[in-house]
Amino acid sequence: MTAIPDIMLNNGQRIPQLGFGVFLVPPPQTEAAVSQALRAGYRHIDTAEMYGNEAKVGQAISRSGLSRGEVFVTTKLSNDAHRPDDARRAFDGSLKSLGFDYVDLFLIHWPLPTRYDGDFVSTWRTLEEFYRDGRARSIGVSNFQPHHLRRIHTEGEITPAVNQIEVNPYLTQDGVRQFCADHEITVEAWSPLGRGKVLTDPTVTDIARGYGRTPAQVVVRWHIERGDVIFPKSVTPARISENIDVFDFELTGEDVEAIAALNRDQRTGPDPDTFAG
Ligand code: NDP
Repeated sequence: MTAIPDIMLNNGQRIPQLGFGVFLVPPPQTEAAVSQALRAGYRHIDTAEMYGNEAKVGQAISRSGLSRGEVFVTTKLSNDAHRPDDARRAFDGSLKSLGFDYVDLFLIHWPLPTRYDGDFVSTWRTLEEFYRDGRARSIGVSNFQPHHLRRIHTEGEITPAVNQIEVNPYLTQDGVRQFCADHEITVEAWSPLGRGKVLTDPTVTDIARGYGRTPAQVVVRWHIERGDVIFPKSVTPARISENIDVFDFELTGEDVEAIAALNRDQRTGPDPDTFAG
C-alpha cells in the first residue's frame, strides 16, 4: 500500500490527508470500526464530543499496538460548551474520555452565530489557551464562513490551522475554499461522499468505470487531487479498505473538472449561518 500523503498546517504540524470519520458510528461499534481502520492503514481519526464515541476511539487506539504519536486525532467542542469556562471543562472532558494528555487538533464544531450573543471569538480565545499549553497541538474551526473567519482573523491572535466544512461534488464550496487558501487555512471536507448520495451520479460512475475503480474511490481521489483533507466514514470493513486504496492512481485534470462541474450548492447538513446547535 502506498503511503498516505501528509499536509503541512500553517503552524508546521503535519496531518495525514486521508483519515477515518466516526460521526453516527454508535459507541458499541466504534472500537471495532476504528480498529479495522487502523489495521487497514488509516492514521488519522476524526471524532467529536457530540458523537458520543470519544472513549471508544481512545480505547481502539490504545489497544492497537500503535504509539500515541503515530495516530493523528481530532475532536471538537460541544455546541453546549462555547462559554470559556464550559469550553475549558469540555476540553478536559474530551481528553479524559479519549484517555490522552493531548489531541492533535481541537475544533470549534459550529460558529452558532445566533447563540451566545454571536460571540464565538471568546470561544476561540479559549482554544488559544489549549494551544499555548500544548494540550491541543493545533486548533481550528468547523463550519465557519468567510465572515466568521474574518472576525477570528482580526480579533483573535492565532489563525485557525483548519476549517472543516461540508464539501462534495454537489457542494464544491469554491468561495470558502478560496478564502481559506488565501489565509493559509487548510480545508477539511466533511461528508466527502455526500453520505453516499454522489456515488450513483452518472458522471461519477462513468469516470469510475474508465479507471476500473469504484465511485467512492473516484470521489475520494477527487478530494485528494483538490488538496483537501478528508475522512470518509464507514462501518463496513470492505468499504473501510476500499476508501484508503486510492494511492496508486490519479484523476486527470479534465476528470477533476468534470466532477466539480456537478456542483449545485446543495447541502446535506445545516446552514452554518442559521444553525443554532
Ligand atoms: P460520508 O460522506 O463519509 O459518507 C458516509 C456514508 O457513505 C455511510 O452511509 C457509509 O455507509 C457510506 N459509504 C462509505 N464508504 C462507502 C463506499 N466505499 N461505497 C459506498 N458507500 C460508502 O459521510 P459522513 O457524514 O460520515 O462524513 C464523514 C466524516 O465527516 C464524519 O464521520 C465526521 O468525522 C465528519 N463530519 C463532520 C461534520 C462537522 O460538522 N464538522 C458534520 C458531518 C460529518 P456504511 O457506514 O454503512 O458503510
